[in-house]
Amino acid sequence: MNIPEDSLRHDSISVALVKEKVDAAFPVAIANLGDLVRIPGIAWDAFDPQQLELSAEAVAALFRETGIFELVEIRRAEANGKVGAPAVVARREARNGRPQVLLYAHHDVQPPGDLSVWNTPEFQPTLIDGRIFGRGAADDKAGIVTHLTAIKTLVETLGSDFEVGVSIFIEGEEEAGSPTFRNFLEANRDVLAADVIIVADSANWTTTIPALTTTLRGLVSQVIEVQTLDHAVHSGMFGGAVPDAMTATLRLLASLHDEAGDVAVEGLHSSKAAELDFTEEQLRIDSGLLDGVSAIGTGSILDRIWTKPSITVIGIDAMSVAMSSNTLLPSVKAKISMRIAPGQEPQDALALLRAHLENHVPFGAKLSYGEVELGKPFEANSAGWAKKLAEASLSAAFGNDSVDIGIGGSIPFIADLLEVFPAAQILVTGVEDADSRAHSPNESVHVDTLRGAMVAESLFLIKGNDLRVN
Ligand SMILES: [Zn+2]
Repeated sequence: MNIPEDSLRHDSISVALVKEKVDAAFPVAIANLGDLVRIPGIAWDAFDPQQLELSAEAVAALFRETGIFELVEIRRAEANGKVGAPAVVARREARNGRPQVLLYAHHDVQPPGDLSVWNTPEFQPTLIDGRIFGRGAADDKAGIVTHLTAIKTLVETLGSDFEVGVSIFIEGEEEAGSPTFRNFLEANRDVLAADVIIVADSANWTTTIPALTTTLRGLVSQVIEVQTLDHAVHSGMFGGAVPDAMTATLRLLASLHDEAGDVAVEGLHSSKAAELDFTEEQLRIDSGLLDGVSAIGTGSILDRIWTKPSITVIGIDAMSVAMSSNTLLPSVKAKISMRIAPGQEPQDALALLRAHLENHVPFGAKLSYGEVELGKPFEANSAGWAKKLAEASLSAAFGNDSVDIGIGGSIPFIADLLEVFPAAQILVTGVEDADSRAHSPNESVHVDTLRGAMVAESLFLIKGNDLRVN
């Protein structure tokens, strides 16, 4: 359905009003965040699963207290004979053609990691210089309280008789790779189906410049085996005339990049990232690149890590140095890991990679294929009304234009959301910033960035209440 552009703009009076309401709700939101941070719910086998139950119950209680949902429940799915972690779902049905908006976050957290590196107790929320420190303070308990506060602000602004539909999905095993996610989606379609899915689990560009994560690269990995001989032979007797599998493999793998370090596989898709300031110097610092070692590839740094393909050989099975003898190796295995650009189908990328390998394998060596992994990339639907409204809401909330950012890796569950709900517009928003250190010791959320995220999501829902999309 076509939504006129000017119906997606916010006027300054309603923005100011929403900011006031979020300010009023903020102390409670911070207290809620603190309570959640104190529950160490970690979905890894080595940790106490009871904490995940407590965490899910605490989250369910917070959404139940809003009093606006027709259903708030803790549910689980199964996969491979194992029951998954508890997730919280809630739904209030849209009325009169208004959009149904699903708000996603996760309540499980990463393990704390090396405790000696933490400057504050890892599960004790601690405010220092405008940031709240603690495991999960950003990733992703800040996402939960952002959704909660946006709903409360919606009710404060419109009363409890609003028409926009709101659903909640707070997963409990994201940091463990979401093993039952796909089955959970399939089993709970009725609660989760939506016109728009807001995934609050990413980052802003800075603490003051908001961002939508509009691209994620996908993944194609392929194990190969290269064989030149039917058994190992003495290098002193045959070396010089008979090719060994290691030399053949290394020459083949070296063909995957050109002289500039760009991926040499022909036909792969690539595009351009937004023009944001990200220098090679910053790349060097962030990655720990050694002095004197050059970056590889061409185009802007962000093109190279967000919107162009990359190839890395991540493992080789061959003779170890300790066990090596003077022989020509008959066969070598390698695992090639390829990040693919947004807009590229994994199956197509795999076919192009295989064609390259078959064209470049030297000496007529035998090439065979082992295990394959495929993960879809993501590209936000920028023509949809939801992205335009999200941009307008973020820009109004922060007072700075929202920018489009990418992630060079993938968020695997996004691909599942796309497959199960192909008609939904997916928005990947965030409460984090470049200093949030999600997954690392000293994780934190910036208080004003969190407040901005809450204002933006409130504005989105309030405006959504005016839109007729169905
Ligand atoms: Zn997360």
